[in-house]
Parts: sequence; C-alpha cells; structure tokens
Amino acid sequence: MTATTSSQIEIDRERRTLSVEIVAVGTELLLGQIADTNSAWLGVELALIGAESHFHQAVGDNHERIVLAIRTALARSDAVVVCGGLGPTQDDITRAAIASVMNVSLERHEDLVERISKAFADRGREMPENNLAQADVPRGASVIPQTLGTAPGLICPLGGKVIYALPGVPYEMSDMFERGVKPDLLRRLREEGNESVIASRVMRTWGTSESALAEALAGRFAAIESGVDWKLPRTTIAFLASGIEGLKVRVTTRATTAAAAEEALERELGEIQDVLHSTFGDVVFSVDDESMEEVVARLLDRKGLSLGVAESLTGGMIASRLVGVAGASRWFRGGVVSYASSVKHSILGVPDVPVVSEAAAAAMAEGARRVLGADVGVGVTGVAGPDDADGQPPGTVFVGVSLPDPTTQDPTTEVRRLNVPGDRERVRQYSVISALDLLRRTLSADGAN
Ligand code: ATP
Ligand code: MG
Repeated sequence: MTATTSSQIEIDRERRTLSVEIVAVGTELLLGQIADTNSAWLGVELALIGAESHFHQAVGDNHERIVLAIRTALARSDAVVVCGGLGPTQDDITRAAIASVMNVSLERHEDLVERISKAFADRGREMPENNLAQADVPRGASVIPQTLGTAPGLICPLGGKVIYALPGVPYEMSDMFERGVKPDLLRRLREEGNESVIASRVMRTWGTSESALAEALAGRFAAIESGVDWKLPRTTIAFLASGIEGLKVRVTTRATTAAAAEEALERELGEIQDVLHSTFGDVVFSVDDESMEEVVARLLDRKGLSLGVAESLTGGMIASRLVGVAGASRWFRGGVVSYASSVKHSILGVPDVPVVSEAAAAAMAEGARRVLGADVGVGVTGVAGPDDADGQPPGTVFVGVSLPDPTTQDPTTEVRRLNVPGDRERVRQYSVISALDLLRRTLSADGAN
C-alpha cells in the first residue's frame, strides 16, 4: 500500500456523492393499508445512479409532521424526494408543507391552471374547483410537467440542497422521477465532481435462505465496509428475495470509468461465488439475472438433449414455464399432467406404490421419457394441501429427474424429497422451481453428457 497524499484525498473528496432521503407521505402507509413500494423502487434507482440513501421516512397526511419529516431529512441529506400527497383532495398537503419548509408562499401558476383545465376538457369532464390547488407552486420552485395524471411534480431548491415532490401513484411517480428528478440529480452529481459510472449485475441463487446467505457473505460485507466511504471503486451488495424467481444478490459498483466498474464488479462476483460455492455447493444458478428455466434451456440446448415432464401437483406449471423460453421447441417435447393416480399408473407406468413417494417420482420421470420420446424426464408428485394425502402431510414433494448416463446410455434417475412450508399455492410454486433446479444441477454436474 502506498501512502495516501493529501492531494489524493482532495481529489477523492471532490468525488463525494449525494445523499438522498425519501419521505413517503400517506396515512395509509402507516396504517399498513398499502405497502411502500415507491420507496423500494426509488431506493433501487438512487443506488443505480450512484446517490446514497441513508434514511427512508414514512409520514401521515399531517402538515406539522410532514414539515418535521422534510426538515429532518434536509438536516442530514443533500436532497429529499417526497412522494405522495400532491393530489387535489384535502388530505393532499405536501405542496403546502414544502412551502412552509422553504418559508415561502404558494403561487398559482396560470399555465398549470390551463393545462389542468384542458386535461379535464379533453376527457369531457367537469373540473372540480379544488383541482386548481395542483397549480399552486412554492415560490422559487420549478415544475416537472405531468403527462399521465393531473398533479405536476416539483423541484424546490433550498440553499445548496433540494426537495423534489412526486405524486404517490406508482406509475406517475416513476415516470416523473425519470423525466425530472433523475436528470437533476445527475447534474448535481456532476457538479460535485462525481463523474462516476455505475454498473450492476444480478446473481440468482436457489437452495438457501436469505439469512444463511447474508451470514455466509458477512466477510464480503466487512471487506467492503473496511474501504473508506468515499473511495472509488465502491461496491455494494444487496439481497432481493424474489420468491420463486430465487434469491437475488445484486452487486453494484461505482467507479471513475466503465472499465474500472466492470473489473471491480467481476472481481466481487467471483469472490461471492467462491464463498457461496464452498458454503452451500451449487446454489448460484445465474450471474446475469437469467431465470431458472432460461438456464435449463441453455444447458439442454448445449447438450443437444430433449425434455419431457410428468406433473401431478404442479398441474402443467413446469411445462408452462419452460414453454415461456424462446426456442423451446428445440428441446421441449411436452408434458403429461397425471393428476389422478390411475393416470400415473396407466399412462406413465407408475407401479403399485404410494403415489406420493420416491418410487412414484422416479417412475414418473422415467415414464415421461418413454411416453414423450424425450432424452430427459422430470416427474413431480406431492401433497399441495391443505389436507394430508397418501399418508403424507402437505408440503411433502418428490421431484425426480431421469437421464441417460453419458457413457453407457443407461438411464439414471435421481429423486429429491422436499418439505415445503406454506399454503397450497406456495407448495406448488416451490415444487416448480425446485424441480427445475434439480434438473439444472443434474444437467450441469460433471459427466452428465
Ligand atoms: P392523487 O393525485 O392520486 O391523489 P397523490 O400524489 O396525492 O396522488 P396519494 O394520494 O398520496 O398521492 O396516493 C395516491 C395513491 O398512490 C394511493 O392511494 C396509493 O395507492 C398510491 N401510493 C401512494 N404512496 C405510495 C407509496 N409510497 N407506495 C406505493 N403506492 C403508493
Ligand atoms: Mg391524493
């Protein structure tokens, strides 16, 4: 390590990023009537442009408390994004609260009055008088024109800082963020001397819990945090639990050049993959945000193998996901939905064994190969619930994969037993991705063709 000179520190300090705080306004957020998806979406977007976000607040439709929330945010952040409460009703008071924080009055903008009136006229509707409140703008603020709804957004400079106001309706909020807030933030980032480039990749995993993943990666977090805050390249790791799409690990790097960002990203992804592989085995199924079925499709294509599936409790959901991949006709033969026991026996040749068992899953996978003329067969049987079946509790699922041995061509069949907690829908969904995951692991294992 070379010693850091004071001039280097100056340069790095110049590259300081902006901190942006989100204030979500709406009593319904506090009452739990709606989830704050706006803040979640904004959090992702802010990270992507290289702004930092250290706090999120949610506040009800109350003037004093909105003022307090914005003042608190301004005291510790460079910019505040307020979303919600810009509409025409009595409980929409964000505009007035921002004017209070800025200590200015609200001014009615005639061009906005015209635009709002016209939007109503175009739809052949009478405009309620209170809609004109949306033409009120705190003195000194500029407007982000509305294209979708009727409430314009606001850009309100205050000292060297800024308050943005966006509507609460998610698609209006995201549209206005893209058009009005993001360009303004990027300009501010440039003015800070922060010409950084952001690159991000999403790794997907299946077969571990979020907490186990976080624990395994604690060392990576510590390594990243031990770097000094403002030094580039700077990398962040985030987990996104995405249900049946797997548990995603997003790695984002901010660097001074695109090449440096890519290099740092590649290095960090490699480190993470090594840790996860040595802790959990083959849980990483994609490093480019590919879905499980896309990965399976790629493996089948590469090996020139065709696939057939036999489904009981998943009722065709596996086949449906596979057919969703472009080019599926190259490798997908088809599926049998063998829901009734008699169909498992008569069509797939399942022997006289309990239909929710390892033997039944194996026979279904082998039957799928034979009946559908496929190289590889997948069989899934289990109890979706809510009641026990075949002497097994809900959530008991067997997935089987049958494929020819690459040298002898004799079929080898592997079965995995799952115990999926949750309701009928969750058991079925998890059975789908677990079956695809067993197929993926089998196909990617050394020697499998
Ligand atoms: P409007 O013109 O529709 O009144 P507004 O800017 O006043 O818009 P709100 O009244 O606060 O926004 O919210 C409108 C709707 O947008 C809410 O009923 C809710 O469905 C949705 N919404 C508001 N805030 C959020 C949020 N943080 N996350 C997700 N949805 C939200
Ligand atoms: Mg409203």
